[in-house]
Amino acid sequence: MPKGTDVSLEILEKVPFDTMDSTNKFNVLDIDFLSISREEALSLLQQVIDRGEKESVSFINADCLNISCKDEEYRAILQSQKIVLPDGAGIEIACRVIGKQLVANLNGTDLIPQLWEIAAQKGYRFYLLGAAPGVTQRMKLKLEETYPGIQVAGEHHGYFDHDTESDSVIDEINAAESNVVLVAFGAPVQEKWIHQYQGKIDSNLIVGVGGLFDFYSGDKKRAPLWMRNNGLEWMYRLYLEPGRLWRRYIVGNPLFVFRVFKWKKRVASAGS
Ligand code: UDP
Repeated sequence: MPKGTDVSLEILEKVPFDTMDSTNKFNVLDIDFLSISREEALSLLQQVIDRGEKESVSFINADCLNISCKDEEYRAILQSQKIVLPDGAGIEIACRVIGKQLVANLNGTDLIPQLWEIAAQKGYRFYLLGAAPGVTQRMKLKLEETYPGIQVAGEHHGYFDHDTESDSVIDEINAAESNVVLVAFGAPVQEKWIHQYQGKIDSNLIVGVGGLFDFYSGDKKRAPLWMRNNGLEWMYRLYLEPGRLWRRYIVGNPLFVFRVFKWKKRVASAGS
């Protein structure tokens, strides 16, 4: 296993998905999140693959929830999903506001590499879809070097015409016979694409992973560990790309907290 994780295949045998009830969930801004540990999340993803089921997975952060407040289609998609995982410091703050302890911050950029580690042992096949041309090829090489035995069944960049070319990309995905498709188009495009096309994709898991490919290929630097551990990854991303991200963080972060307080009050008054 990678350094710093205690996960082993032996302890990944709990929390069958079908026994989940409301104690394993919490709700923020009308979206249900799974309230599970890192080990349980990894166990769950493996169960979907091992049982030959089909599920999509979203890692949802404060920015995604801000989008869902304005975009009804996006909100309905997130509400229809079984596996929505809490990503980032914003969700942790929201949990504090609603009086719920966040079990684990499960961002995809940290969780998916743990799944690769397991996949290298269990033979799961991955398809990489998204990011700029060239990124997935570099990623494939790095993955094969880092996780000997991992099977990258195919890859495709994300800059094709999603309206007219998705069907031919899906033909390639299905021909590659992968268990897991990682989709890196950014939110909300990736969740909408997954929702629209998951019925045509034969793989067990389709996971929206945002900027993971850019980070993993080394095209974009990730925040130092001390920043990540203190909920400051957003600040580092803002420092690297202020033009693109100022609205998401400078406007979005306080707006998110305001929305959570307002929503909590509304829910409380509806329940009384
Ligand atoms: N992207 C893509 N196709 C598009 C638009 C974006 O493949 O049509 C990729 C982009 O190159 C980047 C990822 O989607 O690799 C989005 O990254 P971002 O950092 O915005 O994602 P976040 O994690 O913040 O949601």
